[in-house]
Amino acid sequence: MGNLRSKIVLEAFKKQAVEVPAPDSAVSNWFGELVFNRDKMRRYLDPATYDALIQCIDEGVQLDLAIADKVAAGMKKWALEHGVTHITHWFQPLTDGTAEKHDTLLDYDGKGGVIESFTGKALVQQEPDASSFPSGGIRATFEARGYTAWDPASPVFIQDDTLCIPTVFVAYTGEALDFKTPLKRSLKAVSDAAVPICRLFDPEVKRVNAYLGWEQEYFLVDEDIYAARPDLMITGRTLMGHESSKNQQLDDHYFGAIPSRVAAFMKDLEFEGFKLGIPLKTRHKEVAPNQFEFAPIYGEMNLANDQNQQILNVMHKVARKHGFVVLLHEKPFAGVNGSGKHNNWSLGTDTGTNLYAPGKDANGNLQFVTFFVNTLYAVQRHNGLLKASIASATNAHRLGANEAPPAIVSAFVGRTMNEVLHKLLELPSGTPIEIAGKKGASVGAIGIPEIFIDNTDRNRTSPFAFTGNRFEFRAVGSSANCAGAMITLNSAVAEQLMDFKAELDKSLAEGKALDVAVMDTLKPLIASILGTVCFEGNGYTDEWKKEAARRGLDTESVVPKMLQEYEKKESVELFKRCGVFSEKELHARNEVKLETYVKKIQIEARVMGRMATNHIIPAALEFQTKLLQNISLQKEILGEESASEEVFIAREISKLVAEIRQKVRDITEARKKANKLEDMYKRALAYSDIAEMIPLIRKPIDALEEIVDNATWPLPKYRELLFIS
Ligand code: ADP
Ligand code: MG
Repeated sequence: MGNLRSKIVLEAFKKQAVEVPAPDSAVSNWFGELVFNRDKMRRYLDPATYDALIQCIDEGVQLDLAIADKVAAGMKKWALEHGVTHITHWFQPLTDGTAEKHDTLLDYDGKGGVIESFTGKALVQQEPDASSFPSGGIRATFEARGYTAWDPASPVFIQDDTLCIPTVFVAYTGEALDFKTPLKRSLKAVSDAAVPICRLFDPEVKRVNAYLGWEQEYFLVDEDIYAARPDLMITGRTLMGHESSKNQQLDDHYFGAIPSRVAAFMKDLEFEGFKLGIPLKTRHKEVAPNQFEFAPIYGEMNLANDQNQQILNVMHKVARKHGFVVLLHEKPFAGVNGSGKHNNWSLGTDTGTNLYAPGKDANGNLQFVTFFVNTLYAVQRHNGLLKASIASATNAHRLGANEAPPAIVSAFVGRTMNEVLHKLLELPSGTPIEIAGKKGASVGAIGIPEIFIDNTDRNRTSPFAFTGNRFEFRAVGSSANCAGAMITLNSAVAEQLMDFKAELDKSLAEGKALDVAVMDTLKPLIASILGTVCFEGNGYTDEWKKEAARRGLDTESVVPKMLQEYEKKESVELFKRCGVFSEKELHARNEVKLETYVKKIQIEARVMGRMATNHIIPAALEFQTKLLQNISLQKEILGEESASEEVFIAREISKLVAEIRQKVRDITEARKKANKLEDMYKRALAYSDIAEMIPLIRKPIDALEEIVDNATWPLPKYRELLFIS
């Protein structure tokens, strides 16, 4: 003992929880104190400005510059009270995180001094020189102009000394270069498509909102141990490491007692989130050791997604205060569960009806069933595209492995809804759908429970599951921006609702009653989903893979091939019809996805090569030298026939080292070849083969970890990474 690694581990183990002072008063008193929310608007804006801003937020009415100036003045006053010195337009480019470029509030006052200045113009629009953001070729660097524009639907907030203004990021030619722009377009599309259907049931409906409740999984690793793992630092995951003797097999981590250091971190994170108006609700230990989860109360999707991005930034900072590093990678450790970000999704009307919860009467239930069936049919139509929307180099480690959603998008509806669907199909159209067990129900009515108590009837293997009053899209990666998946889901549902409405109108034109017309139009869809996308069984089995292929579901598991879904005619048509992406935008974004895929694997392959050569092989040889010295001593003192085991191991080390060297050469060669491919799709395909070569180098390395003495091994081991907190 006594080597550096042991010292780091011991120090980490001894760390105590950082104290987090209790707040002065109940959270509800200061919730959202760093957000320019409606309460602040009322206090810092004059009534006319307030009204104009609210109209702009609620109805999308344009703000004129004179009003924007007044809004900015109110914001400035509020911000200065919080010690703000800088402003930034905060946006979500097509990278993993968010972007911000800070400007001070300083300006010359024209009298030889300086003042704090913040104008409507600076609030509404900026022109960051953002030529280095991925654009998939939309913006050649010589015409690097893009601009950010304020999204009033997402409130301005303060982070440290900076006033952050949530913005969209678009090219001067109008193409979206971010996640927020298309997300907002998809929200409009789904509302526009859903409203005419809702009005058949409730003429008061003017808008339909999409809601998102994200559940964020993550790992925590002690920062000192983390710093000794170049692979974690550079790629976000361990590229090597033998499984710990104990990992998650005892199921003793899930929902277990939270260690005090972690509890302090969580508390601190929640306080920071509350200040930002993020309604964090749950926190718990997840399945794998050192894996955790938190989730807010769901909210309007655009804001909920911004809040997810905000809290991820905050999380990294808060973790460091507590001596931890947060891992958002989908699969930081082999052999234990990876992390996802379940996206709980629903639609609701501005009159307060959740369209995925049973209604109060037969009419309401018919509306529920209409949205339920159309959503599943949309998922079926675009199952390959939905899978593409969550596909990435990092999420690929989760998909298709026996722990998370398989690489097939099917839907789980639960026993009750399964029965309801079968009954709807069998009984004559127009049969009332009533609340099950309700007194005075019509004879022969289809019963639907008011609340789904068999909510526990959860199928964890399903990527898209109905969970009582919402759908849960579980295949989203923990590091992903939720928008990628949500844009696709919103659009697919919008398109299907448009098609359904067109069919329904034909049926109504024939003079059928609404309930008969709706059911007549739904029946073929129900028959189709029951035989295709609906699957209640175990999604991990090989039989399901075969069965899914037979049903015509997409079973592709190679990421670049999955991504080709975006280039298909049906996909181009879908996004065009919904006004979400032009063909040019769609293609450009796919280029970005492919390029990101290539770069991530390229980085992993390089890190693997270097660590193998500079960390592992020297350690193995050092131990082998000790062994050889021992062998020679044994032979000298104990006789020639001694040390046969040690000789065997010394030979084994030579073999493994040779294997590593050869495989590192192979992967370097493969990279060189792949890099020459001009076509991004072909290059990505070549890199998907390179991704398969990384575990081949890992294997002999992990074998060496089992052989080399503990003191010589240079990298923190899984047992140290996963069990210290
Ligand atoms: P579980 O892990 O059991 O699925 P959690 O409580 O961890 O549940 O998270 C469920 C998430 O779903 C929360 O963010 C919750 O607010 C959200 N949610 C609940 N109802 C809806 C709804 N109608 N639409 C969208 N999200 C919802
Ligand atoms: Mg959960």
